[in-house]
Formats: sequence, structure tokens, C-alpha cells
Amino acid sequence: MSLFIENFSTITYLLAAALFILALKWLSNPATARRGNLAGEIGMLAAIVGTLIGHHVIRYEWILVGLVLGSLIGAPMAIWMPMTAVPQRTALSHACGALAAALVGTAHYYLFFKPIPHPPTTVTMIFLCLEILLGSLTFTGSLMAFGKLQDLLPTRPMVYRGQNILNFAILTLAVLCAAAVVIQPAWTWLFPLILLLAATFGVLLILPIGGADMPTVIALLNSYAGLSASMMGFVLDNRLLIIAGALDGASGLILSIVMCKAMNRSFTNVLFGAFGQVRASAGAAEKKNVRSGSPEEAAQIMEAAQSVIVIPGYGMAVAQAQHKVRELYDQLSKRGVDVKFAIHPVAGRMPGHMNVLLAEAEIPYDRLIEMDEINGDFPQCDVALVVGANDVVNPAARHDQSSPIFGMPILDADKARTVMAIKRTMNPGFAGIENELYFAENCMMLFGDAKAVIASVARELTESN
Ligand code: NAP
Repeated sequence: MSLFIENFSTITYLLAAALFILALKWLSNPATARRGNLAGEIGMLAAIVGTLIGHHVIRYEWILVGLVLGSLIGAPMAIWMPMTAVPQRTALSHACGALAAALVGTAHYYLFFKPIPHPPTTVTMIFLCLEILLGSLTFTGSLMAFGKLQDLLPTRPMVYRGQNILNFAILTLAVLCAAAVVIQPAWTWLFPLILLLAATFGVLLILPIGGADMPTVIALLNSYAGLSASMMGFVLDNRLLIIAGALDGASGLILSIVMCKAMNRSFTNVLFGAFGQVRASAGAAEKKNVRSGSPEEAAQIMEAAQSVIVIPGYGMAVAQAQHKVRELYDQLSKRGVDVKFAIHPVAGRMPGHMNVLLAEAEIPYDRLIEMDEINGDFPQCDVALVVGANDVVNPAARHDQSSPIFGMPILDADKARTVMAIKRTMNPGFAGIENELYFAENCMMLFGDAKAVIASVARELTESN
């Protein structure tokens, strides 16, 4: 019987590890993303079943309570939270994972002394301390990120003199206390202090970061939560936890690096740059003209076009305009217009944001073209239709060295024959700066909510059919 149990857990763990790796591979492409999700889910189920059956669990009732409680919180979050709230939902999930790691580490530590004392090895203590340090700071940091994204906390960066020095001092103190406990594991009185210091550091780390930078920070916190789980794997001698945590840690880190690169920002700038502070607009004093058009005008131009490139951005997500965009796509395709969608890696507020929304509206994947591939098409394109995108089409990124987005790769919408930009006002986007595209001679503004404007254009096209 015990041989069966041992082999059962090894086999399920192997299966789960393979499925986690496949899930990550499949999730990187919209065409296989659903399969990736399913593989991850089955992998997790295999891991749970393998752990519950393959290990000598003495009492199941608390595990059951945990499963029911977790499902009661998780299911409504998955069902009712809107797509635009996915970043804060992810932050909450990381907070829960990190809290679990910190609590397991804490329980494990105190079990070394009670009921039967059996002092831990130095290596175990190192992993345990890393686990609780990362777990506690990720827990409070993720809660802060959630608060900022959900507008429960002020979203602006909160900065004060000596902030970085204070943060560094608290982190150093936490690490020093952890080092002391590694050397003297019996100093149990020091343990709560490590938890407290790390948790405080998590709060202070997020304070100077603006709400709009939170998705990048969440990817980083994801990485910390993964590493914490991996450390827990070493402490509990559970290989699957080591593998899954390492995958999580590495993918979170890669994702945050990709996001920083696509925004042309460094990690230090995201973490300490206080990006998103209210600043005076350089062009505020200048009075410039913008040309405003109507949906009828837009429909006529698009009807006569041979090629249209749609550039979705954060505004499309806010307006939930993707289904109307699909209607417009159908109308134009019916007329033989070549319609493509230009995807900027950081359009919206989370990686893959636009892909997910367009996939939800069942726009064919082969119409979604990545930035590097589509930029060459703009000079031959009749209409670039900007749907609630702003920074990702701001030409200042190419030439204005004083611009905060200078150097960020952009979609070359301005090179199209006609540009149509849908947004509600002349307010700036995430970077807080004016967009010179809107003042260009070939640009026509379509003011209004993206869903309403696109619906009107599509209606015009239907009626003219
Ligand atoms: P953006 O620069 O934030 O601009 C979005 C625009 O949408 C705004 O100018 C806004 O103008 C408009 N808008 C909002 N609600 C609308 C509605 N209901 N209907 C029509 N328009 C609406 O967006 P983006 O061009 O997608 O650029 C994304 C930015 O986020 C980049 O700067 C990127 O670096 C940053 N970022 C992205 C990620 C990521 O992972 N994707 C992560 C962190 C940061 P009005 O208010 O005038 O309507």
C-alpha cells in the first residue's frame, strides 16, 4: 500500500510538472491559450490529488474547510469581476498565495520546537527565512497594489524625502534579523519581527508607485510569490512545489522585463521613478487646432478605403467596445476592405489585454498583427483607426527627447493616409502627456465613448448597404 502511495504521488507530480510547462508554452499564443489554461488547471488538480492521496494526511477536515472557503472566494471573483479588473484580481490571488507561503513557513518554524523539539538544519532555516521574507512582503505589497488598482487607495505615487533610504533600512533590518534566526533558530522571539518588518517593507515599496504602473509591479510580485513557493518546496521537501514555484518566479520576472522593455523603462524607474505624478503639460500654453469629425464622415471614408488598420488601446477596454469593433470589422470585410488589428505589447493595462478582448469578440487570430510586423504597413494603409489608444501611437516617443515616453516603441499610425482617433476628451493617457498625433493634418478626432462611436459608424455602414 505504501509503495502504491509513494509511486502515485511521484507520477501525479511528474504529470503536473509536465502540464505546468505545457501550459506556459500554450499560454504564450492566443490560438493555444485556452488549451494552456486547461492544461494548467488539470496540472493543479493532479498536484492536489497527488498531495492528498500520496502523502500521509492525518486529518482531512481542515483541508476540506480550506477548499470550500477558497472556492467560495475564488469562484465569484472569477465570474463577476470584469475584464478590466483582471490586474487587481491577479494582485489578490498573489496576496493569497504569498500569505499561504508565509503562514506555512511560520507554522513549520514553530513546529521545530513544539511538541517535540528537533532543531532545523542551517540550510532549512535559510530557505524558510527566504520563504517568509518573500511571502510577507508579497502579501502586503499585493494588497497595496490591489487597493491602488481598485481605487481604494490614492493611485498617485506617494513620495517623501528619504523614502528610498527608509525602505532600504527596513529591508536590511529584516534580512539581518532573518540571518540571526538562521544562526540561532531558537531565538523564536525574533521571528514575528521578521514577518512584521517584511510586511512593512511590502507596504512601503508600493507607496511611491503610481496606480498605472501596478501591472508591471504585479508581474514582479508574481515572481516573488513564485520564489516564495519554491523556497517552501525546499523546506517541505516537495519537488513539485520547487518546480511550480520556479516556473512562476521565472515567468513573472520575464513578463515584467518584457513590459519594462516595451515601455522603454528600467526596473528602477518603475519601482522608484514615481511615474504618473501630476506634471505640467509642456504644450499646455500653446493653442492648437484639432479636426473633429462625425461617425457619418468616418463611415464614408472607411467605405472607400482598401485597407484599415485598427489600433485598440485602453479606452476600448474601458468602453468594452470589442463587440462593436467586431461588427465594424464584419461590415468592412463584407465590402472587401482589408482590416487588420495592430497589437502593441503594452496597449491597455496588462500584457495581452487587447488580444484577450479581441479574442472574446471572436476576431480571427490571423488578423491580429504584432507591432514589429505591422509597422511597415502603415505608409500604404488608407485608414488607421485608433480606438481608445493614446501613448502607444504618440509620435513624440520617436523624436522628443524630453518626453517621458521617448524611446518607447510605438505603432506608426501617423504614417497612414488618414488617422481617425476615438476618445472622449483631449485628456492624456497613462503617461500624462499630450499626443501630437491628434493635431496632425491627417488626423480626424471622433469624440465620444468608443463603444457608442464604433456602433454609430457600423450603423452608418449597415444603412448605406
Ligand atoms: P492610454 O495611453 O492609457 O490611453 C487610453 C486612452 O483611452 C485615453 O487617452 C482616454 O482618453 C481613452 N479612453 C478612456 N476611456 C474611453 C472610452 N470609454 N471611450 C473612448 N476612449 C476612452 O492607453 P494605451 O495607448 O493603450 O497605452 C497603454 C499605456 O499603459 C502605455 O503608456 C503603457 O506603457 C501603459 N502600461 C501598460 C501596461 C500593459 O501591460 N499593457 C502595463 C503598465 C502600463 P479620454 O479620457 O479622453 O477618453
